[in-house]
Order: sequence, then C-alpha cells, then structure tokens
Amino acid sequence: MSHKSSFMSKKAVDRTISGDNTFTHRLKCTYTRKNIMQRFSIFSLARNALSYHKNWQEHWRSPEPKPEYDVIIIGAGGHGLATAYYLAKEHGITNVCILDKGWLGGGNTGRNTTIIRSNYLQDESAAIYELSRSLYEGLSRELNYNIMFSPRGLINVCATEHEMRAFQRHAYANKLAGIETRMITPAEIKKMVPIIETGKNARYPILGGLYQPRGGVARHDAVAWGYARGADNLGVDIIQNCAVTGILQRRGRVVGVKTPKGEIKAKKVAIVTAGNTTMLTDMAGFKMPIESLGLQALVSEPIKPIIDVVVMAGTVHGYVSQSDKGELVIGGGADPYNNYAQRGGITSWEHTVRALVEIFPVFSRLNMMRHWGGIVDMTGDRSPIIGLTPVKGLFVNCGWGTGGFKAIPGSGFVFADTIANGRPHPIAAPFNMDRFREGRLIDESAAAAVAH
Ligand SMILES: Cc1cc2nc3c(=O)[nH]c(=O)nc-3n(C[C@H](O)[C@H](O)[C@H](O)COP(=O)(O)OP(=O)(O)OC[C@H]3O[C@@H](n4cnc5c(N)ncnc54)[C@H](O)[C@@H]3O)c2cc1C
Repeated sequence: MSHKSSFMSKKAVDRTISGDNTFTHRLKCTYTRKNIMQRFSIFSLARNALSYHKNWQEHWRSPEPKPEYDVIIIGAGGHGLATAYYLAKEHGITNVCILDKGWLGGGNTGRNTTIIRSNYLQDESAAIYELSRSLYEGLSRELNYNIMFSPRGLINVCATEHEMRAFQRHAYANKLAGIETRMITPAEIKKMVPIIETGKNARYPILGGLYQPRGGVARHDAVAWGYARGADNLGVDIIQNCAVTGILQRRGRVVGVKTPKGEIKAKKVAIVTAGNTTMLTDMAGFKMPIESLGLQALVSEPIKPIIDVVVMAGTVHGYVSQSDKGELVIGGGADPYNNYAQRGGITSWEHTVRALVEIFPVFSRLNMMRHWGGIVDMTGDRSPIIGLTPVKGLFVNCGWGTGGFKAIPGSGFVFADTIANGRPHPIAAPFNMDRFREGRLIDESAAAAVAH
C-alpha cells in the first residue's frame, strides 16, 4: 500500500505511518477489500432501523478455499483469528486462509469465563499478558466492534497465609513490571463485594487479596467475531467446517495441508488449535509437551446486579463474575484426568459450586441455568508455547491452558510478527518449545493453575 495516494490528507498519512490504529485500519480497509466494510455507528443503526434491519452487510464471507495461500492458519479460535488480522494489518500479508473443523469461535474461545488480567509472576508473562490487556482497552474502537470490554476490577482473594505470601510476591513483581496491582485488606474487599463472607467464623476467613483495578471481562464471542470481521475485511479467507487431516511436507519443509475440500498449498502453516494441538503435531510427525483436559463452567439464572468486580478464590477453587444479562458466570478447576470430552459433568460443577457457596453463602438459593466444557491445552509450567517447530515453515501457538482468552490480542500480535518474519518476536521468544528441554521453565502454576 502506498502512503502517497492523492485522496489522503497529509494528517491522515502521518497518522497511518505513526501507527494510529483506527486510521490505519480504516485506510487499509479502503484499499484491500472490494466491498468496503460497513461501519457500525449510531447513524448506521438509525439508517438500518428505517429498513427494519434487513440490509446489514454480512460480517464475513464464506469463500471456497483457493489452491494456494501465503499462510494457512489452522484453528479459527480467538488466537488464530487475531493472528490473521495482525498478519494482514501489520504486515500486509493478506493472502491468508483460516481453516476450522467447526464454526469460528466454537472452541474454547466461545466457552470460557472471559476473565482478563495480567497479574502474573514472571517477567516474560507480565510482558505478554499486559500487552494483551492493554490492547483490549482499545479493541472495540480498533475493530469497530463492541467487544464489551469491562475493566471492572479483579480480586484474587486469599484464605491462607501461604496464599497471602504468594500474592504479595505477585504484587511486588507486578510493581517492578509496571503493572498496576496491590494487596487489599478484608475490609476493603468487603466494601467492594458486600455479599462476600469475610468473617472470623467463616470456614475460609478472607485474609486479604491481590487487586488489579483494570482487570475485568469482555464478551468472548464478540472478540472472535470482531477479529473475524476485521480479518475478512482485509482479504483473509475464513473457511469453516473444513478440518485439517494432514500436514503436507517435502524435505523437512511444510508445503500445505490436507482437508476434505482437497489439498491446499502454503509455504507457511500455523497450528493454533488449543486442546487439539497434539493431534495436529502428530500429523506433522513430532510430539508436544501438552496435555489436554476438560475445563467446565456454568451460569446461574439471571438476577439483579449483586457483584461488580471479578472474584477468584484459589483455596476454594472457584471464581465468579456477573454478566451484563445478570447471570453469574462461574468456573473452577480443570478435570483431574486427560480427556477430549468438550462437555460438562456433574462432579466438576458440584465441587465448584460447593466451594463458592462457602464464601458467597447468598448463592446457595440460585438455580443453575447452563453448563458446558472445553478442551484446554496444558503445559507443565502453565505458560504457552509460541514459535517455530522442527518442521520448517510450520509454526505453533498453544499451551494457553485455562487462561488464554485474556491473551488473544497480544498473542495474535506477536505470533503474526513471528510468522511474517520467520523468527520469534522478542516477547514470544522465551515461550519457545526448547525451554522444556533446557529447563528454562516460566513457572506460573500459582497464577494459572486454578484461576484464569
Ligand atoms: C470453561 C473454560 C473457561 C475458561 N476461562 C477463561 C478465562 O476466564 N480467562 C481466560 O483468559 N481464559 C479462559 N479459558 C481459556 C481460553 O478459553 C483458551 O485459552 C482460549 O480460548 C484458547 O483460544 P484458541 O484460539 O487457542 O483456541 P480455541 O478457541 O479452542 O480454537 C481452536 C480452534 O481449532 C479448531 N480445530 C481443532 N482441530 C482442528 C483441525 N484438525 N482442523 C481445523 N480446525 C481445528 C477448533 O475447532 C477450534 O475452533 C477458559 C477455557 C474454558 C474451556
């Protein structure tokens, strides 16, 4: 794209070059897609109301795959979609297709409890999770799509001295990394969350908590749909219901993939399939240090607003936030055995609810409305794997386990850079696969083991 086009004002050009996101996005859209993306605004809403909302543009196309692309991304979850979007937007690589065996956003991205935070312990994690959290702050504007980001504040409550010490350590580490968190007292917690049981007679008296004021939640489907619409608009082909069944290679290099719609060629292929990662890497002929486990969640019936921060409780093994619809969104720990079930089961949520009722006795009268499960991809150190693989041209982004929703924008941003340049982005570099062989683990078990 030339920045010298005659219809751009000098101001617009300067803003494009300096990376003003909204402008860059809008200008690139003007150039790359034949149908200019319909923008959402109060005016377009009013205009479409006049035609009974029958003339809205489709969010994305459903094309047939071309025989060859520059990059193929396997997996249309949040991470795959964000990667495609940033490949097109930041690197001008638009001859890209995303293949998904189901519907886009139908994996963990559409099944999680939407918690966003960056209060991790290690410097490497702080860098990627805070990049991601800060991108979330401007994402609705960037994508012209309301992802309902709500930085309402998040508390990791501590019910044991051990937890207090661990989270105090997180607070110090966050301060050094420039992330705003602090320890708060039981009185402060009670003020923010009046329904919580902090008293001395409680089974799990609350001793304090780690508070991240700009942590929060966003609407998970909207994150997937916003990135899908943005990527499609930049020329990316999104092909749903098209499972990859083989990774094609020649002399140690990837040359494409096998699908029910035929072979599709590409010199670069990225595996972004979360709990199914090992199935794909088995096809490519190498092993990954990943275990797949079920992780379940549930929502209560909708009620009036009673809790306006996110609360996570490691000791009792549960966490909760209230959705805009009024449902309490509740999650707990992963299943204690490997599986690919992608569905809920009574023992897990019974355990979670029993635990949460200990610190929120008021929940005991609620009815459960829905429960479900996803397949999470766990590494030994609870940190992701992002980067190159033993097969040339084949990249992998996985291992986000129970906590990758919060990482979608940052992960997509650094992974796109990694693919475009064929070497790890500096923020992604520590998360390479070799760390397990070399013993350079990025241990986040306290931050990520139970709570997300
Ligand atoms: C119940 C639950 C609660 C969670 N809560 C949180 C939370 O509060 N906060 C947080 O940060 N994270 C949370 N997570 C984790 C988070 O959801 C994931 O880490 C994140 O969504 C992973 O995104 P992804 O794009 O990598 O994978 P996914 O969204 O799972 O996408 C992978 C895609 O790959 C596709 N695929 C698989 N195999 C193939 C194939 N052979 N060919 C083509 N396509 C294929 C799948 O169909 C799927 O659409 C939770 C997860 C679950 C299950």
